[in-house]
Amino acid sequence: MLRLFLYGLAGLLGLALLGYFTVAAPIADARYNTAQAEPPYDEASARAETIHDTLLIADLHNDLLLWPRDPLQRYDRGHTDIPRLREGGVGLQVFAAVTQSPMGRSYQGTEAGALDQIPFLAAAQRWPVATWTSRRARARYQARKLRRATARDDKLMLLRTQADLDLLLARRDDNPAVMGTLLAIEGLHALEGNVANVDTLVADGYRMMSLTHMFDNALGGSSTGIEKGGITDFGAQVLDRLEARDVTIDLAHASEALIGDVLARTDGPVVVSHIGVRATCGSPRNLSDRHIRAVAKRGGIIGIGLWESVVCGSTAAATAEAMRHVADLVGTEHVALGSDYDGTVSVPFDATGLPLLTEALLNEGFAPGEIEQIMGGNVRRVLHRTLPAAE
Ligand SMILES: [Zn+2]
Repeated sequence: MLRLFLYGLAGLLGLALLGYFTVAAPIADARYNTAQAEPPYDEASARAETIHDTLLIADLHNDLLLWPRDPLQRYDRGHTDIPRLREGGVGLQVFAAVTQSPMGRSYQGTEAGALDQIPFLAAAQRWPVATWTSRRARARYQARKLRRATARDDKLMLLRTQADLDLLLARRDDNPAVMGTLLAIEGLHALEGNVANVDTLVADGYRMMSLTHMFDNALGGSSTGIEKGGITDFGAQVLDRLEARDVTIDLAHASEALIGDVLARTDGPVVVSHIGVRATCGSPRNLSDRHIRAVAKRGGIIGIGLWESVVCGSTAAATAEAMRHVADLVGTEHVALGSDYDGTVSVPFDATGLPLLTEALLNEGFAPGEIEQIMGGNVRRVLHRTLPAAE
């Protein structure tokens, strides 16, 4: 009787483990990356579609690499994959690595010490064992995932230098299916306290980095942290190294104090890869007019998100309204798109619905030339200045 019970228990455990290693990650993926409406999205006007077809869209932020999806395959869950990005007209996509995600992430203050969800996601996807405990290994693995995808698709490029960006633009003139990708990282807790790891990540292909993510770390304060402080001594050392290596600095998750400190200590253009603005949405995560002006003064760009909690709305119109605010305040040349697709967010549509954003920008009164800047031209201009000239 006892033996039968034990066999039963072992069987159940086996089934639970099998479930964990096969369906748990896809279930989390489908549950966390939702859209208000399912494709196809055919409600954009003919005029919007015509303009949209001429665009080279550059999106500053996407978290696809965290999820159990082969970037090259098409899925019906989540927001993006390379086929859907191509269909949506995206010609340059920044893919970001997330390396630590404390439970209960919220806009009221995320505790750095709260239970990290990434080990569960890493194990469920059978990532290499090192990634179960090491944030650096998680960053390195996500870079490898993208590099492997670019190696399997000759029309998919990983941009490392200004020359790569030029090559992308030249190749796209002949074939609009050619797409560029760029590696970014959210929060340099991935350095695990060692400045020299900047060089490791640069060698892996990372070209854009934010000092902090959802929580305060050893480099500085997060806009959703507890203390929300400025830069630390370690953060200042890292910042010097980032500048020396021509890494593009991203202020997306920085606290107000950290934004001020980073701007005071650097010279070149910075990006704010995915965010909203306080003027249209009061989230503590969003940029004040003062900081929008400060970023613009430095020749930087602000990637406005597509997701509900930073634009306070679940339509493309809410994103276009935030873009309009930045354009009116500092000029269209400082506005960009930072969708945060696949960033554990709710968005109006997946990447194939992007013509609806072009439509919303037309409705906001933007001219086609301005839409071209917002949807990609401004990102190209800034990367041309911030990317290393050569390896
Ligand atoms: Zn983020």
